[in-house]
Amino acid sequence: MDNKEILNLEKAGKIASQTVKYARNFIKRDMFLLNIAEEIEDKIIQLGGSPAFPINLSINEVAAHSTPAYNDSAKAHGLLKIDIGVHINGYIADTAFSLDLDNLEENKKLINAAEAALLSAVELVKEKKIVKVREIGAVISKTIEKYGLQAVRNLSGHSIEKNEIHAGITIPNYDNAQEKILEKGIYAIEPFVTNGVGTVRDGKPSGIYALTKEGNVRDQFAREVLTYIKENYLTRPFCSRWLYKKFGSRALIALKRIEESGLLHNYPQLIESSGKPVAQAEHTIAITSKDVIILTDIIDSLNIYK
Ligand code: MN
Ligand code: MN
Repeated sequence: MDNKEILNLEKAGKIASQTVKYARNFIKRDMFLLNIAEEIEDKIIQLGGSPAFPINLSINEVAAHSTPAYNDSAKAHGLLKIDIGVHINGYIADTAFSLDLDNLEENKKLINAAEAALLSAVELVKEKKIVKVREIGAVISKTIEKYGLQAVRNLSGHSIEKNEIHAGITIPNYDNAQEKILEKGIYAIEPFVTNGVGTVRDGKPSGIYALTKEGNVRDQFAREVLTYIKENYLTRPFCSRWLYKKFGSRALIALKRIEESGLLHNYPQLIESSGKPVAQAEHTIAITSKDVIILTDIIDSLNIYK
């Protein structure tokens, strides 16, 4: 990583940290999810960043990949996961936390287990010079099991590269027997915890999309929307809500045309297989030649790489 990359990542991380701090304070039960999403995304922009993907607001058994539609009327409740991505010039910080909006002991336990598992994983990486991905998975699941709960085994952390949120290396939430050693780079660690069976299945389409293929569409307006997507999101995830805001209701038809052309992936919601609640905690870390830094836990200090 050169100095420019590091500065961009550091800035993205700091904005993500500040946004989390802000969101933790303002989110309350019964607020419209749509208002929460827009307020968080506006905050990121106000702080000088851009959303790296649509804010994920996933409730109870929905583990991930849920963002409000442009006309969404759902309200915040239950065990709410807030997953936030910030990018600066394509350099991405990815972070998440969970809130118990129903004041339930069980929700609090799930959240505590997710936070503790994340902390144990980060500490292991900091402590060891050479760490295998299976060892991170092992410490995560061991920590979660101390709470009498399960790690969600088919959700995992990931390496991050420029404009690529999921860049190929998997950081498991259990010992998956992979001997792969984490090299220098950027990684998201994200334990998901449940009191259910500990897997997720695909649910309905989320309205969160990403461009997956080169190509074009015949319809002229759809082509205009596609150009906008290519220029503004590249291969980063986006949502129909964002396009609705830019182009109005015509965007939804255009999006359908683009989807029919096979150029887009529409991410399915991820639902806990036994319908039980899921908590999540996530940080993005940088492993450099000198240090391990939690990029999404920077509130005040800048230039930490000096
Ligand atoms: Mn995330
Ligand atoms: Mn992630």
